[in-house]
Amino acid sequence: MAAYDFTAPRLYVTPDLAAGARLPLDRAQANYLLTVLRRKPEDPVLVFNGRDGEWRARLDATGRKSADLVLVERTRAQTPRPDLDYLFAPLKSARLDYLAQKAVEMGAGTLRPVITRFTQGDRLNRERLSANAVEAAEQCGILTIPEIAEPVRLPAALEGLAPERLLVFCDEDAPVSDPVAALRGAASPASSPPLAVLVGPEGGFSAEERETIARRPNTVAVSLGPRILRADTAAVAVMALVQAVLGDAR
Ligand code: SAH
Repeated sequence: MAAYDFTAPRLYVTPDLAAGARLPLDRAQANYLLTVLRRKPEDPVLVFNGRDGEWRARLDATGRKSADLVLVERTRAQTPRPDLDYLFAPLKSARLDYLAQKAVEMGAGTLRPVITRFTQGDRLNRERLSANAVEAAEQCGILTIPEIAEPVRLPAALEGLAPERLLVFCDEDAPVSDPVAALRGAASPASSPPLAVLVGPEGGFSAEERETIARRPNTVAVSLGPRILRADTAAVAVMALVQAVLGDAR
């Protein structure tokens, strides 16, 4: 990654960003910067809103526990949201928090919750999912916030994918074989196809679901090795492979 100031805290904000703009911080953000990180007025803070790129801001304390950010200069131009859809069966809360953060760090642009037969996650908390996505985006240096789709059942999730989007299906029943070769056989890296990844629930996919997924054209089933990984482990493993062979880690 190009030289980057990893020491400056990054905050996701919603207002428009322009030179000289003054952004009042909410109590949590002010507390984080002033009390937790003990930032001083001259310390840089980076802000982004997913539309106007990233800006360096000056911290202007307006009280012991309140502060504004005053935008100084744009540090990076806006880049588009990554064109990688991450389809996953909701897991129980702590694992889902982890899965959401790792999918964002690994380059997912859209999180698509998919309800499958063995999905065990209770009712999906989209606000919590969004908060995890924002926290991961702030930490990993990206400029967009992933889109979070409404949960849908598996058939609808598959139908919702554009035909040209290559679906990488993590199949725990697939015979162990080279996943890199499988990905290379599914698309030429030069073509940089739009991508989607699908990981199942703690209980895995049913045989019927496996058949439904395999019937979709432009779908490649990959084995992640001879061990059964937890869904949140599989999330990171498959994203590392996909990004290295077909994605933005080349
Ligand atoms: N029935 C097992 C499978 C659950 S693993 C169980 O109950 O533990 C959860 C998901 O992670 C799977 O549906 C699959 O998408 C992925 N996964 C786990 N291990 C895998 C492997 N070795 N190869 C491919 N995908 C795997």
